[in-house]
Amino acid sequence: MNATIADFSASFPVASSRIEGFIAAHSFDRPTLVLDIERVEAQYHGLNAGLGNATIHYAVKANPADAIIDRLVDLGSHFDAASRGEIELCLSHGAHPQAISFGNTVKRPSDIAFAHRAGITMFAADAAEEIAKIAEHAPGAEVYIRLLVEASGADWPLTRKFGTTRDTALALMAQARDLGLRPAGLSFHVGSQTRDPAMWGDTLDQVAAVWQAAVEAGFDLDLLNIGGGFPAFYGEAIPHPTVYAARVMEQVNARFPEGIRIMAEPGRGLVAEAGMIAAEVLLVSKKSEDDLHRWVYLDIGKFSGLAETMDEAIRYQFVTPHDGEATGPCILAGPSCDSADVLYEKRPVALPVSLKSGDKVMIRNCGAYTSSYSSVGFNGFPPLDVVVI
Ligand SMILES: *Cc1c(COP(=O)(O)O)cnc(C)c1O
Repeated sequence: MNATIADFSASFPVASSRIEGFIAAHSFDRPTLVLDIERVEAQYHGLNAGLGNATIHYAVKANPADAIIDRLVDLGSHFDAASRGEIELCLSHGAHPQAISFGNTVKRPSDIAFAHRAGITMFAADAAEEIAKIAEHAPGAEVYIRLLVEASGADWPLTRKFGTTRDTALALMAQARDLGLRPAGLSFHVGSQTRDPAMWGDTLDQVAAVWQAAVEAGFDLDLLNIGGGFPAFYGEAIPHPTVYAARVMEQVNARFPEGIRIMAEPGRGLVAEAGMIAAEVLLVSKKSEDDLHRWVYLDIGKFSGLAETMDEAIRYQFVTPHDGEATGPCILAGPSCDSADVLYEKRPVALPVSLKSGDKVMIRNCGAYTSSYSSVGFNGFPPLDVVVI
């Protein structure tokens, strides 16, 4: 932690949260993600209340901070891990192996063997080779088949990298059964940052049709993994987490049998609103005197934490010391020498005209997919520092 106390609070009109107050009152010598673990707990309770009988498996990749894993273990959360490293992280914080699912469909055989030895019994797959690997290295394990679903309208859709079609799913279940595994059910991901719970309907229809076909083919399914997709607030209205989760579960319950095990894997929805980044303006410039747009270069960019600005998909909100004054359109860019390191250009960001080099800028609701995306210091810019308050 590099934060040192200094009184900057006078330059910020209002601190609307504990984190904002903390950032305003400290100075930072590099971009820093400030996390409020109480907010993680509040989001957990909020989602849990709406999810009813479904179990939360936190998607660790959204933010693997020790303090988050620690608190979620205390709260009784389960975990979705993608690698040996994430499994070890959860175990080291006291998570029970039975509470960890190995949800990546692309696994290293030695990692499967490690997970099996550690007592993990739930594995995802979407291909015949993967079923064979699991059967060899985790004999007798429970597997769920990840389905390819059509894009639902998410702000961060998950494309075609993961999942398989109905007929292949049925063939994989038969293969799993023949190899001594237990094909327990299905999983899918509706797409990250799915703002409206109504967007789940079509996806759930597709999954329910495959479930029905599997049951008719004689498979005794009792596990539905509804994945992530739970949204965070980035400026466009979203329902309260409890309301959102309850609307999703109403739609699940209308389509799937009573009494089955249901897992939900929120990542973003659990941690995004629990974090804010303290950043700094390095340069404000214009290409020519009559240019309508200013270029604002921050000390954080696409390669040091803000990867989700790719295609301008996730639009973060900025707090500056000059908020409330006149604004003008800005193209926002990161500090690296890579010309791809532009955050927002197609849709410029309105920022105060008095903004200048050296100003502190806070970026709201940055707790998900920022520190975890900035693991290497590209171009000599250090990975995102994390401070827990
Ligand atoms: C990343 C991931 C999640 C979390 O998605 P969010 O949209 O952040 O909630 C859930 N499940 C799986 C399998 C994932 O890979």
